[in-house]
Amino acid sequence: MSAQNPCMSCGACCAYFRVSFYWGECQSAGGTVPDSQVIAVSPHLVAMSGTEQKPARCVNLMGDVGGCVRCSIYEQRSSTCREFAASWEDGSHNPSCDRARAAHGLAPLEPLEPLWQPPQTPEMTPVVA
Ligand code: SF4
Ligand code: SF4
Repeated sequence: MSAQNPCMSCGACCAYFRVSFYWGECQSAGGTVPDSQVIAVSPHLVAMSGTEQKPARCVNLMGDVGGCVRCSIYEQRSSTCREFAASWEDGSHNPSCDRARAAHGLAPLEPLEPLWQPPQTPEMTPVVA
């Protein structure tokens, strides 16, 4: 995540949904997700621990939702985590992002979310001899 990423001051989806995925993504099966951080929820699916219950909150979510947050296994997180896009991150709306934010009293992200904009750099000016 970049410094401009609004997810870094949100974390609502990690504390709202059941975050489940195929067990083959676990380290014991050759994947990346630490086995100690998941719980089996079906013969083929596991969920991030803490998200299988209500209220849900992944054990790897550090910080306060809506404040400064981070994922303690960011590089090892599952495909479900990687593929969940914040609204307008890639130009498209994700109603599930809105729903998770609303559940935590956070307003939906806007299509022109200023936090998604890259840092401003000085304009290149041609040098005229
Ligand atoms: S593993 Fe990280 S990104 Fe995935 S639900 Fe947990 S805190 Fe969120
Ligand atoms: S709810 Fe949306 S903005 Fe918040 S952390 Fe998840 S993807 Fe990012």
